Amino acid sequence: MGKNAKTKKDATDIINEKILAKIEEGELPWRKTWKGGYNLAINRKSKRPYALINQIMLGLPGEWAPMKYWNEIGGKVKKGEHQSIIVEYMECHGKRTVKNEEGEEVEETFKYRKPKFVGKYFHISQIEGVEPLEKDEIDMTGNEHKLPIEDVLQNYYQSEGIHVYDDDRAFYRPFDDTIHRPMKKQFKEIEEYIATLVHETAHSTGSKKRLNRTFGEKFGDEKYSKEELVAEISTVYLMGLFGISTESCFDNSAAYIQGWLKPLQNDKKMFLSAASEAKKVMDYIMKYDKIEVNI
Ligand SMILES: [Zn+2]
Repeated sequence: MGKNAKTKKDATDIINEKILAKIEEGELPWRKTWKGGYNLAINRKSKRPYALINQIMLGLPGEWAPMKYWNEIGGKVKKGEHQSIIVEYMECHGKRTVKNEEGEEVEETFKYRKPKFVGKYFHISQIEGVEPLEKDEIDMTGNEHKLPIEDVLQNYYQSEGIHVYDDDRAFYRPFDDTIHRPMKKQFKEIEEYIATLVHETAHSTGSKKRLNRTFGEKFGDEKYSKEELVAEISTVYLMGLFGISTESCFDNSAAYIQGWLKPLQNDKKMFLSAASEAKKVMDYIMKYDKIEVNI
């Protein structure tokens, strides 16, 4: 057996497939009524819709729960049904060296959340012995796992010494390590603002002192195009993880990715290589999802 044989797909593999499908064929299953509709995957126990990442993971609207919960409420998984996987957040502990107020280097321990994959999820159509919820029992006020992405970005900028400036355009400037972006009020939707900020933040992880990616020499060359793919795929991952993407954000991202794949001859390998870089970007930024810090 090959050492790198991959038997299990993870969330980013599934998102990649969805982006490629979107680029090739168009419409995704959940997109029609993303905002305020019932055409969503619902957590049977909390009676709330799953975050977008799990909408993508589950792929089918309606009630979902782990087998254990179905059993608790008198249900049984039908014979031969296959499980689905969702993403949950696991609390992790990390250590790093920081400078204290006196300028001395001290070791800091911190907690952060890391996505993990949890299996044995089943859709209500795969269950016998349980009736669906009434529509008014479902709580549509918010998605689960809505995480404070702006706090995470703020932690990242502060710890990494990145300055963010108001501007009319959005860009990251490697030579002085600064992010420029239009102000919140210039955007119609807050999600579009955050997606723009996340995109430029993703570029900043490519700096020599961070993940050290090669930026292109000029607009539209191969490395430039690839870096754009990395930044936008990272944006899709992070917006999904934080549960704040919307259908128009996803569509915009897919269109943007499609645009940058063109100069790369629509090379799928190039997409997957950018996607694996994007995964590193996501992990790098997620480390700043600090819950608490003890020095
Ligand atoms: Zn960009």
